[in-house]
Amino acid sequence: MKAFLYSGLFLGLTVVIAGCGSNTTDDPIPGPVLAVSQHLTLGNPSGATTDASQPTNYLLVKPQYALSYHRDRGTPNWVSWHLTSADLGSASRQDDFRADNTLPTGWYQVQSTSYTGSGFDRGHNCPSADRTATVADNSATFLMTNMIPQAPHNNQRTWANLENYTRTLVSTTQEVYVIMGSYGKGGTGSNGAQSTIDQGRVTVPARIWKVVVVLPIGDNDASRVTTSTRIIAIDTPNDNTVSSNWGSYRTTVDAIEVATGLDLLSAVSASVQSTVESRVDTGPTQ
Ligand code: MN
Ligand code: MN
Repeated sequence: MKAFLYSGLFLGLTVVIAGCGSNTTDDPIPGPVLAVSQHLTLGNPSGATTDASQPTNYLLVKPQYALSYHRDRGTPNWVSWHLTSADLGSASRQDDFRADNTLPTGWYQVQSTSYTGSGFDRGHNCPSADRTATVADNSATFLMTNMIPQAPHNNQRTWANLENYTRTLVSTTQEVYVIMGSYGKGGTGSNGAQSTIDQGRVTVPARIWKVVVVLPIGDNDASRVTTSTRIIAIDTPNDNTVSSNWGSYRTTVDAIEVATGLDLLSAVSASVQSTVESRVDTGPTQ
């Protein structure tokens, strides 16, 4: 947790500096800040880096989302993305599931066919429908580094409902940050329980979680999270008995942090985190 905290603070600081790009009184800062993504504005939950010698927490930053990849699970630990009305356009679903060839040389690349016959869906973390501004944006969501083996009812009911609801929160006056991840080992799909698929190269997570942060449109977003900001956190079992009502899985960010060892929202001030992360959302679910 200490290592995570340090990295989180570091990234939080660089995000603040990078945010000055929209402030005409400040000059752009060259150097490492260029590596920081809008998708990590609220923090890098595991202090992931692009160091290939850390294969269980490897940072992949794409224009459309950022993630921490776990080579040995064959899945992301978490995926984080910023969602605004500018991301929602008319590009159609590309369905071009494919291996991510940007992983370090020599790492196994999960294939478009790796889940075939497993009884689990290729479940998006950053959803296809959150990236429809351009064909390239939509296509990027079909990289297998953005997928987990997800029980079909979890994916097509619970998750689809929360994804659809989240997009209704995005407007000309509101923007959203989403962080999704999974942990544990062993889920139950349409062919029964499995702990791994693809000859052991992909771990089936036991639990799938999501955190949604809703903000009015503005700049310096991490500093605008307050004790009254709506934050939805859910944690669900990866099985087909899951309820379609995502609201019944609401929990605290703190509980997800305890279960995963992550520090979510690390770029938000510690005092605000302590309040918002211990609260369970009671807002509408549709
Ligand atoms: Mn899905
Ligand atoms: Mn936190």
